[in-house]
Amino acid sequence: MSTQGKHVIIVVGAGPAGMAVASSLSKAGHEIIILNRDIKFGGLAEYGIFPTKLKLRGGLKKQYWELIERPNVHYFGNVSIGKGKDLTVEEVQNLGASAVVFSIGAQGTKAIGVEGGSAKGVFHAKDVVYHFNRLPGFGDRPFEMGKHVAIIGAGDVMVDIAHWLIRYKKVERVTAIVRRGPAERKYNPKEIRAVCANMDVDGIAKEVARIKDRLAAVGQNADEVLKGLTDEFTKCEPKVSETKMGFKFLASPKRILVDGNNRVRGLEMEDNKLDPKGEDTVAVGLEQYYEFPCDAVIFAVGDKVDESVGLPYKSGMFVTNPNKTGNDPDDALFQAYDEDTGKTVDGVFLAGWARKASEGLVGIAKRDGDWCAEVVSRYISTKAPGSHSDVKTVLDKLASILTARKSHPIDLEGLRILESSEKSHWGEDCIGEFKYTTNQEMLELIERGKT
Ligand SMILES: Cc1cc2nc3c(=O)[nH]c(=O)nc-3n(C[C@H](O)[C@H](O)[C@H](O)COP(=O)(O)OP(=O)(O)OC[C@H]3O[C@@H](n4cnc5c(N)ncnc54)[C@H](O)[C@@H]3O)c2cc1C
Repeated sequence: MSTQGKHVIIVVGAGPAGMAVASSLSKAGHEIIILNRDIKFGGLAEYGIFPTKLKLRGGLKKQYWELIERPNVHYFGNVSIGKGKDLTVEEVQNLGASAVVFSIGAQGTKAIGVEGGSAKGVFHAKDVVYHFNRLPGFGDRPFEMGKHVAIIGAGDVMVDIAHWLIRYKKVERVTAIVRRGPAERKYNPKEIRAVCANMDVDGIAKEVARIKDRLAAVGQNADEVLKGLTDEFTKCEPKVSETKMGFKFLASPKRILVDGNNRVRGLEMEDNKLDPKGEDTVAVGLEQYYEFPCDAVIFAVGDKVDESVGLPYKSGMFVTNPNKTGNDPDDALFQAYDEDTGKTVDGVFLAGWARKASEGLVGIAKRDGDWCAEVVSRYISTKAPGSHSDVKTVLDKLASILTARKSHPIDLEGLRILESSEKSHWGEDCIGEFKYTTNQEMLELIERGKT
């Protein structure tokens, strides 16, 4: 194509990062083709952010609808990219677009290599989050938690999962297992408001007293640390269950203990001490072990990208160009890079959590998408007009591959049918509370709506 410098750009992944790329480049007049694994757009804005954050979710949804309704944006939901999926990375590259941006998030899970990880009652945070946000494949699977749940981690995702256990599962007890101490907690103080009405404040005081000598060894005063922790327990959301929430600090799970049915009965835990490391601290195991009884264990220790997609991958991340270009934002940070050839993968870019797994909130992912769009704009401005296909040619080629694969892509019309059906189930003041939990239900509904 490239009449008047306009190009076709493929964005893979319709989460906050991909939608920002698409928004910026479509505003510049380019033709944008979005390929998204989920039927619905939004990524973790739809299937990650806590269900009760209606304002945030609703605001994002509104922006994304406005985007995909633009005439130069072409949406294909239910299209996965990867080996053995609807299209491979190479097939996407060969569709004839001027550039391809992968903003597919971080779909892998980090493990901390604990023996017994396959026991019944062991879960990864992302699966649990997808479950309570009703992502097809997760929403209708049972996630049995028992009475006492241990969540490994001290970040916002730990808090969200505790919130779910308190609000919806109403379990007896939730314990956050934290490798370091209270001062090294990672969650945002605002987030703790969702669960602080359920805090076992006496139990927390005892826990901090238990580790006071180890805190003192790195110059931390236990009373001050406790005050810092509990002072954040203000403006708590109203209590909705009798669940008690607490913490286990300076604790590393070493082994998952199981009963005769391979069901979790507890954790073998190692006591840690803190060692100073510059301004920060590190946890060091003391080789003192104890048993911690619980019925379920949820690992909330961060995400990594999905290496099976087929993009250059190393140590949990897709590889980007190590050779800085000096531009601002630096092109190298967004360019996919093949270490075998020592070259960038021409025309292939990364944005959002696909570039930096678990990095920040929606605003950060959006900014990453905006930066990536700038980098892509610079890249396509170097391409000779006419050197790439027009949008019709790219769309026809895509359609013929999807037809041959018997794929079921969902377009804007299909999304509208789905949205109006889901809306008819929503309560008056509540957006997005009702969701279909299987792709089949959604596909059938859309099919019926189109005929
Ligand atoms: C539990 C949790 C709670 C959070 N709560 C908040 C919050 O309250 N406020 C806030 O601001 N931020 C929150 N965040 C952070 C926010 O969700 C992320 O910053 C943001 O969603 C990252 O955007 P992304 O586009 O990079 O990835 P994602 O949102 O993960 O989007 C990835 C997209 O790629 C698609 N995809 C994946 N694989 C493929 C494939 N192989 N082929 C095609 N498409 C694919 C997916 O369908 C998805 O649409 C939360 C995150 C989590 C995990």
